[in-house]
Amino acid sequence: METRIDGRTRLYALIGSPIGHSGSPAMYNYSFRKLGINSAYLAFDTPLEKTEAAIEAFRTLNVGGFNATMPCKAITAQCVDRLSPAAELVGASNTVVVEEDGSMTGHMTDGAGFFRNLKEHGVEAAGKKIVILGTGGAATAIAVQAALDGVEQIALFNRKDEFFANGEKTVDKIKKAVPGIGKVLIEDLDNTEALQGFISESDILVNGTRAGMSPLEDIMPVPEEFLRPELAVADVVYNPRETLLLKKAKEAGCRAAVGGIGMLLWQGAAAFELFTGQEMPAQEVMDKFFS
Ligand code: NAD
Repeated sequence: METRIDGRTRLYALIGSPIGHSGSPAMYNYSFRKLGINSAYLAFDTPLEKTEAAIEAFRTLNVGGFNATMPCKAITAQCVDRLSPAAELVGASNTVVVEEDGSMTGHMTDGAGFFRNLKEHGVEAAGKKIVILGTGGAATAIAVQAALDGVEQIALFNRKDEFFANGEKTVDKIKKAVPGIGKVLIEDLDNTEALQGFISESDILVNGTRAGMSPLEDIMPVPEEFLRPELAVADVVYNPRETLLLKKAKEAGCRAAVGGIGMLLWQGAAAFELFTGQEMPAQEVMDKFFS
């Protein structure tokens, strides 16, 4: 029986659908308890068409904040009162803080979580050249954060599918918002010559596609002969924990091979800090809930 909850307990929440599998309630509730914060976190299964109503209900009930996952991230950005630079550029928000005056600020912590995870693995991105595979939700958040964090060159690669146009928009938005940045471009993933060229001059290769994720676990997003020891390789995929790309990166002696589970942890830790002003006990959360 939960004895922490009383008349002053602040509610935090997750909206999205499906969310039954989400590790967020366990992660946040453990951290609230550990730090003695009088708050509780619940997941509310919310389809796209009910997102606006859910957010209005949160306003009425003066919740402390909430996270949004698929399919609610883009509409959440449209419903709040202001956006962080990353959320504005991505056009989506995964973390909303309800300010003291009741107004809502939308943030996007996926990209920040990705780069915090790289840093934890000894990889600094500022001033470096990066190749990002993918132009969907995760890859866009990473590309935008890369630009905001001072990466020198960003080469996006995607198949000519329904996500390609989104990548073209991301390139335009980044160039306008960060005019001092070096080269930012998008290429067809099937253009292997361009892919090899950009990977050979880059410091970091990121897989931001679904290639490698179950049931696509046998798919390598790039030919393995493009991997080399000077390259740091990171994957957003966390199911399986070690993707085929990471396995091949280790075999090729790449200087880092970083999985997606840490991104999941650190985007949550960034949201926790925005909610509470305190640091999440990230290592404990990792050991208890993500190992
Ligand atoms: P999305 O649907 O928005 O985008 C999918 C992307 O994958 C597109 O760029 C698409 O072109 C590409 N793609 C799909 N199949 C492909 C294939 N066979 N070969 C090459 N490219 C292919 O998805 P998303 O929300 O960006 O998620 C992408 C991956 O990132 C998923 O595995 C997801 O679990 C993971 N993810 C991880 C985190 C984290 O915290 N680690 C956060 C968000 C997403």
